[in-house]
Amino acid sequence: MKTFFKVFFGILFSCAILALAAFGIAGGADFLFSIVSSNEASVNNASDEKKPVILLDPGHGGMDGGAVGIGGICEKDLNLDLAKKLAEKLTQEGITVILTRDTDTLLTYEGASSAKNGDLRARLKMAEESEDCLFISLHMNKFSDSSVKGITLYHSPNNPEGLKLAEAIMAKVKENLQPENKRPIKAADSSLYILHRITRPAVLVECGFLSNAYEAALLADDGYRDRLAELLKDAIVGYIVASSQ
Ligand SMILES: [Zn+2]
Repeated sequence: MKTFFKVFFGILFSCAILALAAFGIAGGADFLFSIVSSNEASVNNASDEKKPVILLDPGHGGMDGGAVGIGGICEKDLNLDLAKKLAEKLTQEGITVILTRDTDTLLTYEGASSAKNGDLRARLKMAEESEDCLFISLHMNKFSDSSVKGITLYHSPNNPEGLKLAEAIMAKVKENLQPENKRPIKAADSSLYILHRITRPAVLVECGFLSNAYEAALLADDGYRDRLAELLKDAIVGYIVASSQ
């Protein structure tokens, strides 16, 4: 009898091991499937002809520093650093990125009424000459009331895709960074020279207020800018994949 029980429980034990192994393989297969599924949402599945070029525009430069924040941090430098971080992440996703500037400079335009006017006209010309591009301008905000904070998005009124891209970005902002953000997405008025005139899908991201002590400290932090760049990359990739289907 003892031998019988040994054999019986031995068989039972082996069955249990086999069942667990089968479950494990099935679980593993599910896991593999989820990896494949998430890859299917990558931008590489968007067909090439539908994959736009990203024209990334770090605001200001050279003699135009933009907003100066608490502690003397300069908007133009933060915009450029953020743009470079975002460009690298988008490039890793197989997206072609062109920067309107990659150094501390203003662009020039022949016949412009001023250096600033020439810079804006040159950036607008770059966008209008890029046939299939998304124009994304990066800025930092400043306001007299230092309690005001939060990411603010503007879109071009001339192309409905700009609003869709802005909505994709704001959704990621609320999901991953600022769940309390209630700042409305606005159509650019004439005070935003490029966005008001551009015919390409375009957004302007005001990444936060340098006049707010809390947000200025965040924006001055390299790790926070990296997180912001990651969030923007995810939103842009999500928008491209959704619009290519
Ligand atoms: Zn600015």
